[in-house]
Amino acid sequence: MLSLDHVHVAYDGVPAVVDATLDLPDGQVLAVLGPSGSGKSTLLRAIAGLEPVGSGRICWDGADLAGTPTHKRGFALMFQDGQLFGHLTVARNVGYALRLHRVRDTDARVRELLALVGLEGYADRLPATLSGGERQRVALARSLAVQPRLLLLDEPLSALDAGLRERLASDLRDILREAGTTALMVTHDQEEAFTVADRLAVMRAGRIVQQGDIAEVWRAPTDPETALFLGYAR
Ligand code: ATP
Ligand code: MG
Repeated sequence: MLSLDHVHVAYDGVPAVVDATLDLPDGQVLAVLGPSGSGKSTLLRAIAGLEPVGSGRICWDGADLAGTPTHKRGFALMFQDGQLFGHLTVARNVGYALRLHRVRDTDARVRELLALVGLEGYADRLPATLSGGERQRVALARSLAVQPRLLLLDEPLSALDAGLRERLASDLRDILREAGTTALMVTHDQEEAFTVADRLAVMRAGRIVQQGDIAEVWRAPTDPETALFLGYAR
């Protein structure tokens, strides 16, 4: 289980994340929702070990991660543009981490992952021949390959057009459920957050202003913009 305890992160003394406290139980998907500049990516990067924590603690199963470098945390990261290796086929992109970890029977695992993201028959294609949505699916399969104990997604769908984003959001939810992945997804898109996640944390100006189960937030949003989105009168 991931837990953050009064975490502060600043850039040159300017606070970007202020007093963030949250828990993410295993197997659940948490969406961090907030407008541009609210500190979402900074929070995710701190969890990944890419930004130093000013004060507070980020723990996995109760153990402080402060001394653990990014590559030893057992987390996978996926960003907006997927970042595939352009010269490698879909299968080799997905199998990349498996080969690094010397996993046996890489081909079978790659086939399983491509089926999970609905890309059977795409194994030999190069990234340049894929649509944006297909590329994001490949990136997702690659992130899930080594079964990370936590998947960190930073605006994974925001480079896609609205229709595709909506379809991929529900696919993403199904894929994460089926794989049993614990995930934290950063987004500024309310629709996406409510589609994909079990839990929600709403950020404004560096602070988490509300968090809870989707249903809880749905019933009683305390944040005016979230309330308005859900059809509550201001
Ligand atoms: P967006 O939705 O636009 O991606 P965000 O919620 O992810 O926004 P962050 O990128 O976490 O926001 O930025 C939070 C604050 O920290 C912003 O005020 C930003 O200008 C500042 N910030 C982010 N990265 C740096 C950096 N490397 N150096 C200095 N300030 C930064
Ligand atoms: Mg961001």
